[in-house]
Amino acid sequence: MKILVMNSGSSSLKFQLFTMANMAVLASGLIESIGDSQGIVTLHYFDGDGKEQDLELKKEVPDHRAAIELMVELFQEKEILNDVTQLAGVGHRVVHGGEEFHEPTLITNDVLEAIRELNPLAPLHNPANITGIEVVMEKVPDVPQVAVFDTAFHQSIPEHAYLYALPYTLYEELKVRRYGFHGTSHAYVSKAAAGYLHRSYDDLKIITLHLGNGASAAAIDHGKCVDTSMGLTPLEGLVMGTRSGDLDPAILFYLARETGMGMDELDTLLNKESGLKGICGNNDMRSIDKLAKAGDKQALLALHIFCYRIKKYVGSYLAVLGGADCLIFTGGIGENAISVRSHCLAGLENLGFTLDPLKNDNRSDAIMEIQSDTSLGKILVVPTNEELEIAHQTLGLIG
Ligand code: ADP
Repeated sequence: MKILVMNSGSSSLKFQLFTMANMAVLASGLIESIGDSQGIVTLHYFDGDGKEQDLELKKEVPDHRAAIELMVELFQEKEILNDVTQLAGVGHRVVHGGEEFHEPTLITNDVLEAIRELNPLAPLHNPANITGIEVVMEKVPDVPQVAVFDTAFHQSIPEHAYLYALPYTLYEELKVRRYGFHGTSHAYVSKAAAGYLHRSYDDLKIITLHLGNGASAAAIDHGKCVDTSMGLTPLEGLVMGTRSGDLDPAILFYLARETGMGMDELDTLLNKESGLKGICGNNDMRSIDKLAKAGDKQALLALHIFCYRIKKYVGSYLAVLGGADCLIFTGGIGENAISVRSHCLAGLENLGFTLDPLKNDNRSDAIMEIQSDTSLGKILVVPTNEELEIAHQTLGLIG
């Protein structure tokens, strides 16, 4: 029996097919640029004879429904999964679970309705997640489906940390509060780190830094998340590829008055034209790193602003936790950008975290320890694997 994991973004569908017995990956694929004139499909899989294969094709994929049809066609054509009724279950990443969903949940019509009601809080993501669930319901109504929420891990954050200093009625009536995202990744890497350190998860104080195109930090106190940098939406907090992260909210009023920019333009400015891209015109950390090393001033500035914000969050979460046992880097940048790790940890020696530059100068598919021998706290690089975590959580629910 097999478990399918689907992770739908606003214009992408990532999927992985696992064997239920040992969670081996049979196929992993990505369909990008859904809705554009040309979609890009990549698939890595084991064929009917068990041989490893790669496929890349360009094809128009008008919407998420078409993307799922294409995934099923590829499964059949490449003899990965001839009959979708063979699936034991399907796990979906669902971005926003609001306050209703604290844990992975078996999907029923009522659950689907409750997810739909949260659409205004994640207008780009939740509708794509819902389409995925609906198409699977139509195709294989008897296969159980599980929703794994990006927000769920952060539901343990206490009231004083999740509430904004706004009129309380806005929380009561419109649910304006911090929710946090990337929860599956923060949960996965922090538990993996505890396992690696042979420590009980419930005994550790951990700070996780998920640094990808989107980036967020979390403070985990004895197995429970107590604060995170993203807020009502994934815009707050760290500097990201194209998102500003924290700023003075009055900047928006100032810009609106001075430039006449409207709500949608400001939304685009902060979500798509800011962050690393806003500062140096580039949001790919590989290129920024190269340009900075070659002396490009804007790239160096972008790198410094990015790392300084991370350092401030690490400092504040050390205060929140009263010190930490372990600091974790993950995500495309956290796992690979050696210079980012060294920049944002410089000067934290007196707070218990000292990097070993030689150990840091590495990349690996396995967990790496990169602190010096004198460091009180552990500094780990832990490759994230949200799909595997979703597969495990799905299996946990469907038995
Ligand atoms: P997403 O949030 O879209 O899942 P990823 O976690 O894949 O993003 O991270 C993408 C980021 O990781 C990009 O900024 C990319 O440049 C960066 N990255 C990937 N590999 C490297 C590398 N070798 N060195 C520096 N940055 C890297």
